[in-house]
Amino acid sequence: MGRDDFMILTPMMQQYFDIKEQYKDCILFFRLGDFYEMFFEDAILASRELEITLTGRDCGQAEKAPMCGVPHHSAENYVSRLITKGFKVAICEQVEDVSVAKGIVKRDVVRVVTPGTLVESSMLDEKKNNYLMAIYKDKFVGMAVVDISTGELFSSSILYGNVENKLWDEIVRFSPSEVLVNNKAFEDVDFMNIVEKRLNIYVTNLEDEYFDDKSARERIDKQFGQIDNMDRSENSLKNENFQTKAIGALLAYINRTSKVDLGHIREIKKYKVEGFMNLDISSRRNLEICETLREKSKKGTILWVLDRTMTSMGGRALRKWLEQPLVNVSDIQDRLNAIGEFKDKFMLRTEIREHLKKVYDIERLIGKIVLGNANCRDLISLKNSILQLPDIKFLMSDCETEANRRIENGLDLLIDIYELIEFSIEDEPPIVIKEGGIIKKGFNPEVDKLKEASTEGKNWVIEIENREKEKTGIKNLKVGFNKIFGYYLEVTKSYFHLIPAHFIRKQTLANCERFITEELKNVEETILGAQEKVIRLEYDIFLEVKDKICTQAGRIKNIAGALAELDVFTCLAEVADRENFAKPIVDNGNAISIIEGRHPVVEKMIGQDKFIPNDTYLDLEDNRISIITGPNMAGKSTFMRQTAIIVLMAQMGSFVPAKEAHIGIVDRIFTRVGASDDLAQGQSTFMVEMTEVANILENASKRSLIILDEMGRGTSTYDGLSLAWSVIEYIGRKDKIGARTLFATHYHELTELEEKMNCIKNYCIAIQEKGDDIVFLHKIIRGGADGSYGIQVAKLAGLPQSVILRAKEILTELEDADIARVEKKLKKARKPLEGQVDIFTLNKPQLESDLVIDSLNSLDLSLLTPMEALNMLHDFQQKLKRS
Ligand code: ATP
Repeated sequence: MGRDDFMILTPMMQQYFDIKEQYKDCILFFRLGDFYEMFFEDAILASRELEITLTGRDCGQAEKAPMCGVPHHSAENYVSRLITKGFKVAICEQVEDVSVAKGIVKRDVVRVVTPGTLVESSMLDEKKNNYLMAIYKDKFVGMAVVDISTGELFSSSILYGNVENKLWDEIVRFSPSEVLVNNKAFEDVDFMNIVEKRLNIYVTNLEDEYFDDKSARERIDKQFGQIDNMDRSENSLKNENFQTKAIGALLAYINRTSKVDLGHIREIKKYKVEGFMNLDISSRRNLEICETLREKSKKGTILWVLDRTMTSMGGRALRKWLEQPLVNVSDIQDRLNAIGEFKDKFMLRTEIREHLKKVYDIERLIGKIVLGNANCRDLISLKNSILQLPDIKFLMSDCETEANRRIENGLDLLIDIYELIEFSIEDEPPIVIKEGGIIKKGFNPEVDKLKEASTEGKNWVIEIENREKEKTGIKNLKVGFNKIFGYYLEVTKSYFHLIPAHFIRKQTLANCERFITEELKNVEETILGAQEKVIRLEYDIFLEVKDKICTQAGRIKNIAGALAELDVFTCLAEVADRENFAKPIVDNGNAISIIEGRHPVVEKMIGQDKFIPNDTYLDLEDNRISIITGPNMAGKSTFMRQTAIIVLMAQMGSFVPAKEAHIGIVDRIFTRVGASDDLAQGQSTFMVEMTEVANILENASKRSLIILDEMGRGTSTYDGLSLAWSVIEYIGRKDKIGARTLFATHYHELTELEEKMNCIKNYCIAIQEKGDDIVFLHKIIRGGADGSYGIQVAKLAGLPQSVILRAKEILTELEDADIARVEKKLKKARKPLEGQVDIFTLNKPQLESDLVIDSLNSLDLSLLTPMEALNMLHDFQQKLKRS
């Protein structure tokens, strides 16, 4: 719109455009009375997305401005829908009192709602954090992550190793709903593709000044006070710089969008990426930790099995534990011991859980209070939660383990906050905070006095009614009240002749007339004056109470953290008890030894009695690699996943589904299982598989656990087999990786590796043959499988009998032909290098049939006469007869 067009706009529309100019990337919700209105392109877009009517409004120009609107009281729902659809919404309010405004009322944007800055409980998943992440990406990376609703802020830098990969791991670990990136990251097409398309995360590009060191430092100092514990070594400074940039950008963005005090964000939790077990994107997905691979649901995940938390805070903490298993043995043992104590003390656990059940989401409540979104009911919820603390502390006084003692010692009972709310706020206050009825009697003498005046006033009105009734003889005279006329005296038709002179007529209705008197008016003024005053005063007192609580936000947050931890401890103890989990031994040893391990999800789905437990043994010497063969459906994937899950659960500090488990710390779990969802991103199954394998080979260390399921099946048999073979060699060799590995395959040839490499052991899943059919025993045993039994499995799946019979015929033919082909190919195989194994030792002579095939292949038919061709055919026939 040009300047001239602008001049002819109505003043309100000019104001609209001034504001819209600053929030071009948002849909502007422009407050007009009881509605939020949207105009022009915003209106066209919002009416389509929200399915609301598009109308028009005079804007000073010939054509009306397209407009649509939503009532302010139900705006939350509309905003939430727009956010889910990937838009940002700027909320523009009237920021001065309409009654005192001169000219057009002042308006300003009070908040920009984006996926990462949501704080409304109705828009959030109560058992999941809503993270906003800032990434400063250059040669190195600085990251900062915050959940504004809970006030937690983490930061880290990635300064060495495969920076890109580590960054992915962190993004997936937090799985933020919005990522803020610097220009360099935004211009990186591959990076953006993965964040936006593969991970489906909302990205906001911030200009470089958001990441400026100096202003970042100032912002940090303002929010958290001087950082005096800064390590000044060179590496640390670099480290600090990258993080600082990211934290600074994060704070600036929140400041721009939320425009509120962030008093509940009180500390920066700096962490090292290496402090946790690393799980890459595919492993997180394949192991179905918090979300199933296909339906993306919670049901069917490890979280689903484990989540028996009583509070939302505990639910979120449990998810965090699962998302970031530990690598420090003593931290893990600390958790295991605490859980063990609760597992053994059934009554204690049950009673504590009963109390926890009555605790509200204190973490988000304090967030709401600080952010100014809380009402009186939130304060009552906080009070009722605090009420549980003395009992919990008392119950815990018997605890003996270190972590539980620590929780008990740190349980501040918050008595001052309890008393403040208890004495000031009504026990069952209304939701609305601006209409009075929220402050308890006895808390403030002025409020009491005004309330008394308004109740007294009502008695005066009744007195007037009675007196006038008696004086005039109008028997059914009654006092009423409405918002337009205030108090009035109502006289029905039959008494019109008795109306006295001092009655002043105000309104005539069909059967009656309404009057006021001088006296009634005076009383009304006193009552309404008192009511108005008390409402304002009550609101002010509420704000005072709220502000006092804000000053104690740190203490309240500590309690929230302690209760969340306690909730997870007691929850995991409960699950361990119910599901018959065992306490694992976790140390820095080399073995992963699991006796009678089970897959917690499959077991829960099919029933504990139906699941066949299996043992796993891996170490860094003779048992580095298990090659697992067995028919489809035998349970290979289940077995491998259960091993990874048991390791993961043990390192998050949980008991595990096994009779016994001894876990030598694993630094990363890598899984390459089946096809993944990247097909949608334009990569073939095989390409995805190879990229994932490349990632494993590049990043695995000898302390990693590698799970490879049917690697190489996406290409031709020989290519696949050769690749699988050489990958196993590479992983097995101590000078390359030497990691503990489970490798499931249908290439039976690979079982020969056991003979050639000490570190490999063959396993297979037992089946029972019954005539032509097979029965799955799901039991893992030493040795290689006898065959693939693919056709038998297909038969079980219900393929037509004729197809099965034909498949058997073809199989026999293929097997006969294959022997010759394989042997020929393998003869050509080069001599193995040192550390490599000769694939097959070939003793048999090359067969005539192969020579015939080779000659046929190399024949140029265009150079042959018919006679030569006939001679050659004869020659071939002779050779084949000899073979
Ligand atoms: P494929 O090679 O076709 O991928 P697979 O050998 O990997 O097959 P799984 O997918 O692990 O087989 O298991 C197939 C089904 O067998 C599972 O869905 C589960 O119901 C059942 N199953 C697997 N392991 C067990 C077990 N230990 N006890 C009981 N049932 C099991």
